[in-house]
Amino acid sequence: MNVNDSIAAIVSEQERFFHKGITREVGFRLQQLRKLRQVIIARESDIIRALRKDLNKGEQEAYTTEIGIVYKELSFIIKNLKGWAKPRRVKTALTHVGSRGMIYPEPYGKALIIAPWNYPWQLAISPLIGALAAGNTAIVKPSELTPAVSGLITSIIQETFPPEYVASVEGGPDVSTSLLEQPMDYIFFTGSTHVGRIVMEAAAKRLTPVTLELGGKSPCIVHEDAPLELAAQRVAFGKFTNAGQTCVAPDYLLVHSRVKEKFISHLKGSITSFYGQDPLTNIDYGRIVSKKHYDRLSSFLDNGNQRHGGRTDKDQLRIEPTILDDITWDMPVMEEEIFGPLCPILTYDDLNDAIRAINDRPKPLALYLFTDNEDVQDHVLSSISFGGGCVNDTLMHLATPYLPFGGVGESGMGAYHGEYSFHTFSHSKSVLKQTNRFDFKFRYPSKNGLAILKKLLKP
Ligand code: NAD
Repeated sequence: MNVNDSIAAIVSEQERFFHKGITREVGFRLQQLRKLRQVIIARESDIIRALRKDLNKGEQEAYTTEIGIVYKELSFIIKNLKGWAKPRRVKTALTHVGSRGMIYPEPYGKALIIAPWNYPWQLAISPLIGALAAGNTAIVKPSELTPAVSGLITSIIQETFPPEYVASVEGGPDVSTSLLEQPMDYIFFTGSTHVGRIVMEAAAKRLTPVTLELGGKSPCIVHEDAPLELAAQRVAFGKFTNAGQTCVAPDYLLVHSRVKEKFISHLKGSITSFYGQDPLTNIDYGRIVSKKHYDRLSSFLDNGNQRHGGRTDKDQLRIEPTILDDITWDMPVMEEEIFGPLCPILTYDDLNDAIRAINDRPKPLALYLFTDNEDVQDHVLSSISFGGGCVNDTLMHLATPYLPFGGVGESGMGAYHGEYSFHTFSHSKSVLKQTNRFDFKFRYPSKNGLAILKKLLKP
């Protein structure tokens, strides 16, 4: 059987399985999620090993950003699923007296999840948890650029679920394309804006609903009143975790010119305290995923003035945390999402100039603002559209299950995490349950019907 045929076979088996109705039982879903949790616990050290192999993720980073976050998502969803899955009664309009309005969350059917390489475990498994919680079957397509983690995902899925319920299909763009040609009922894609467009075009052919979790250049504003030492630590954490290969990493900094020098000196201090004097020999400092990305990032190293870092290790595909000062918007490093450990710094004197510069570009996935001034916070938050972000922190908004996580415009559409994952993978079926005890005749064609309706429906 060739790849296309075997994909088509999995899809039709999942279709048959879904129509058996087993996944509609919340008890079944909870049982499967608990089973998944048990298998993950049992395979935790394999996951850590695979992340080390593919991306040189240190154990602390792997645990917090890949494994712990998945445990939290699982526990939160297991705890709340029964409540979310219940049919919900809504208010009755005056025109509908006697009836009951109900919303029934129902699974779409077969969900396709396409994942990227940068958090190869979390970004495949977290949407899977949402898809299963909502009662769908699922096919996961992990990234071809992280073969150790992708192989492990396949093995864990095979160990936990039958393929007619959950399957993992490995491969690159060809396999992805073939999956996108299948009659799926929901597509959840995480990756680049460029491929997001391809996914949406494929989905449009079958009118399949999509969530697109994309990327872009996320700005980080450091205002003049910011507590600079703390801000620098939080920026360094957001920028250099996973060697900068984080979709919501602060891509570039806009620092008030009055505090730039002091901020840079704290940023250097944070980098040294996190990764030592020689990050290239720090065994827990991440590596760049591929030679192609390493070469792309290396080509930016001469942009502006290097104020810290800049050394590279071609054999290990590693680049030091690097601060690039005196950056201008027309430099190559500002033309595309960096996705690496390079931190370009631009300055501003008037905050409105910084806001205008951000608004001249596509809507970012994240925005970070460091200031304690609430007027400044309100002004920035009401002037710029972005997916999500933090005031006085970086990355942390994605780690709480209470906040929806997603982009807007070129950074994506739709959102997930916690209850938002459940709703993303559920269709809200609206049903009006009418009473037979009485009937308002005025809605039927009649002589005085219009007069009554005009009163009821008046502006
Ligand atoms: P990518 O778009 O190259 O690949 C993502 C997935 O799409 C992979 O599984 C890949 O095999 C598949 N793919 C690649 N080309 C394809 C094609 N032509 N047709 C169909 N499928 C195709 O992205 P990436 O390099 O793996 O990840 C980096 C990007 O993802 C960055 O832009 C980053 O910002 C973004 N990202 C976003 C989020 C988020 O949550 N919003 C999270 C992580 C990464």
